[in-house]
Amino acid sequence: MKIIDAHMHFSNIAEFRKTASDVSFVDYSVRGIVKEYKENQVVLGIGMGLTEIEKGGFPDPSTLTPMGMDLDKLPYNIVYCAGINPYDADPEALKRLELEVQKKNVVGLKIYLGYYPFYAYDEVYKPIYELAMKYKLPVVFHTGDTYSERGLLKYSHPLTLDEVAVKYREINFMMAHFGDPWVLDGAEVLYKNRNMYADLSGLIVGDGAKVQRLKDSPLFFAHVRHALVYTDCYQKFIFGTDWPLVPIKHISNL
Ligand SMILES: [Zn+2]
Repeated sequence: MKIIDAHMHFSNIAEFRKTASDVSFVDYSVRGIVKEYKENQVVLGIGMGLTEIEKGGFPDPSTLTPMGMDLDKLPYNIVYCAGINPYDADPEALKRLELEVQKKNVVGLKIYLGYYPFYAYDEVYKPIYELAMKYKLPVVFHTGDTYSERGLLKYSHPLTLDEVAVKYREINFMMAHFGDPWVLDGAEVLYKNRNMYADLSGLIVGDGAKVQRLKDSPLFFAHVRHALVYTDCYQKFIFGTDWPLVPIKHISNL
């Protein structure tokens, strides 16, 4: 089976490097991703653009919009969503973003709810949605738990996506991580809005042994199963790994 990984990372972020070397034990490099994709029949990866200027700064308020994939030269089978830093959304930044989305390997926009303290419906993102409509691009939202203590969870709750889904019906929105752990709220937003989808990436961070242990737990995925069944709409869920936070082999065999 040919697999598309709809959520992965390829940015020079200190926290991702540390997770790869100490927690998930993956080779966070061109060589590493090419090998893992090949071994697991992944034919395309969709990266989430992200950058930090200060090492360990992620989510960095001082980095430039658009945020890209700056770990190394991108392999041919990885495309990406341009990352938005809402602190850099002036006309200059929007001009740079508009040029960026015209590149053929840019396939969407990524908004980091919770990492940056703005709701999806905040006015600051209005020009981003206008650009998404102009270029018919999907908008991916980080939702749920933040992979940083500095995140603020109220901004990443999936219920906060309902308002933009209603206001911008022509945009396809992706709820990254299905709003985990608030997946029942996420399920209702997805069930009710025809333009809302979810990726199931990032539900586990760790190595193969941890994936196995949690997979076999009767409770770890119970809330996710409940939410999936509630929507009864499996075609709106999309596979993603959140690599390098977990090895592709273990997550694609779940
Ligand atoms: Zn991610």
